[in-house]
Amino acid sequence: MSPRPDLNSHAARLTALLGLAITSLSCAISQQQEVELGASYATQIDSQLPLIRDTRVVSYITALGNQLAAVTDTRGLTWHFAVVDSKEVNAFAVPGGWVYVNRGLIARAQTMNELAGVLGHEIGHITLRHTVDQMQQSQKVNGGLMALCTLTKVCDSGAGQAAINLGGTALFAKYSRDDEAQADEEGVATLVKARIDPNGIPWMFRILLAERQSNPSAVDAFFATHPLEESRIAATLKQIAVYTPAQLKGLQVDSDAYQAMRRRLNALPPSPTPKPAAK
Ligand SMILES: [Zn+2]
Repeated sequence: MSPRPDLNSHAARLTALLGLAITSLSCAISQQQEVELGASYATQIDSQLPLIRDTRVVSYITALGNQLAAVTDTRGLTWHFAVVDSKEVNAFAVPGGWVYVNRGLIARAQTMNELAGVLGHEIGHITLRHTVDQMQQSQKVNGGLMALCTLTKVCDSGAGQAAINLGGTALFAKYSRDDEAQADEEGVATLVKARIDPNGIPWMFRILLAERQSNPSAVDAFFATHPLEESRIAATLKQIAVYTPAQLKGLQVDSDAYQAMRRRLNALPPSPTPKPAAK
């Protein structure tokens, strides 16, 4: 053991340092804090949302997600991917490496690269720290330590109780258009690095925009958290056009494993009906 430093003579300085540390904690969430925060969110989500437990589906989504995260994550996060048993279309990211995609989105993603595009986009929200930045914003607004109000049921308003629903709509505030554009850009780059055709991103946007016309309630949750207009299709096509034909040649569009997983998912019992939000 090393001898204790003479703390008394430095008491004032230590107090000042401690104050500084606390101040900076509230300004910048460290990676460790981000992961701890994400883990507590994920625990709440896992206990409140119905997740697909089928091992083949879970192992597929985990393998695809990890393939993408491996080429873009520079922080060495441990990634977790899960499928929410909901026929609504949605996908969302939790700080620290948790990504959820609804069964209803996979049902609409005709090819592997369309699902990969969504995963790449959500992974981008985490690697670019959009999710954690958003929480810091709400932390400032709410004055709460970690803005866990919506999830821990300690809030007396009904909003806290109803925050997690099948779509996960209220889980996070809406991303800004800038965040969306950055996550799209990150998604395109991630797919190319993972040797997957990035056209899956604009293709999926077209599917979702078409569904907004024909069956808006199914995609409400997605549109509530991810602003999506035609301009995002044009923007991603422009990003893809930056790559040379040689760079895009031979990138994977679909796979037998993806289609087998989709058939498996389709054969599972129908998704549970969403419970009415708690009052
Ligand atoms: Zn997004």
